Amino acid sequence: MRRLHSSSPDEQKPRPSMLRHLTSKIKATGPITVAEYMREVLTNPVTGYYVKNSMLGADGDFITSPEISQMFGELVGIWIISEWMGAGRPKQLQLVELGPGKGSLAADVLRVFRQLSSVVGGASVSLHLVEVSPVLARLQADALTGSSGEEADGDEDPVYHRGRTRDGLPVSWYRRLDDVPAGFSVFVAQEFFDALPIHKFQRTDRGWREVMVDVDPEKEEQLRFVLAPSPTLASSTLIQAGERRNHVEVCAEGGAIIQQLARRITDGGGAALIADYGHDGTKTDTFRGFKGHQLHDVLSSPGSADLTADVDFSYLRKTAGGGVACLGPVSQRNFLKNMGIDARLQVLLRSCADPSVRQQLISSYDMLMNPKKMGERFHFFSLLQLSRLARPTAPNGLKLEKNKNPAPLPVAGFTELQYS
Ligand code: SAH
Repeated sequence: MRRLHSSSPDEQKPRPSMLRHLTSKIKATGPITVAEYMREVLTNPVTGYYVKNSMLGADGDFITSPEISQMFGELVGIWIISEWMGAGRPKQLQLVELGPGKGSLAADVLRVFRQLSSVVGGASVSLHLVEVSPVLARLQADALTGSSGEEADGDEDPVYHRGRTRDGLPVSWYRRLDDVPAGFSVFVAQEFFDALPIHKFQRTDRGWREVMVDVDPEKEEQLRFVLAPSPTLASSTLIQAGERRNHVEVCAEGGAIIQQLARRITDGGGAALIADYGHDGTKTDTFRGFKGHQLHDVLSSPGSADLTADVDFSYLRKTAGGGVACLGPVSQRNFLKNMGIDARLQVLLRSCADPSVRQQLISSYDMLMNPKKMGERFHFFSLLQLSRLARPTAPNGLKLEKNKNPAPLPVAGFTELQYS
């Protein structure tokens, strides 16, 4: 299960305009790649699923971890502060979130920053949100800045909206990561990579062939999958040497974003935390649609349902290259446990007398942590500066036992908490 869906009346209606757009495109130029299909269906600037819908939350189409419990965003906030400290407390800290949904994660992170202002107070903090959906950007602005925001003057400005949080921190909205300024940054992407377009490939007797989307010749208004008759650019370049699976999905766009994150972390310092469902290079056919709590045929009524594919963390690790360190994937259950979710739950329960709120806290903890629910389906993966994991050298004059250099500072969430 990807998310808990509830159907909205708008979603029930097929969107003929998206289907018409795709069929006329295919008739004009031939079958399209699955990546192009996914990109059009989800983020077409006029009719895309993400662009048109507000699909998150109780009365929307699905629910995600930060929407389930404030504890999720709070622990991510602690992780960010811990990495900022691990980097030597730089004076500037950019918090960058990719695909912020309703803004709940960012709001919970900012609350932690407020509560720990004695720790982070010395840094100048700014928030940078990368979002394609104008509908969601409006919800994010309401959640984070109230009515204080202003739109960009023209289309040229890469910042299409800006404002200030209630604590006075500057917030800017961008369509692409490319447009976010350079500088020490901690990047967060929660259920972002699974929405990026994937290419699909099938092993055949004649070698790898790309799966394409075509119009069904027998049914005018229906799409179908076909195999490209000869190698495509993607099938010639995206399959790893020694690949053993017979069917492979590759998210080249996700790889390109990882490379950009890696470059930014190497050049300006910082870290990235990626949370999503996925696998480590073992799964094959994970492309699926969701509509109204149910699995939905990815090719029927395009634009009316969410499309998603599991994130291949082994591919992200390979594309990150050797310039950064990669940690994970570790399960959401282990990550949140290592971050201290049990202690956080106890603190919240202690300060809450209302039995229904207490019950809600306990059931949301169970949803996030239960291996049969989100606990083992979702994983955390991180990119860090190489120097972050290097052994610090012993300070001059300090006598250490021979060969006993201090160990590197552990990275929160990825190492088991040790209580002494
Ligand atoms: N992180 C949120 C929302 C997840 S849904 C949560 O966990 O609740 C995916 C988010 O990514 C949405 O905000 C969607 O509009 C955004 N998104 C999808 N594709 C995108 C793209 N190519 N560029 C920027 N944002 C994108």
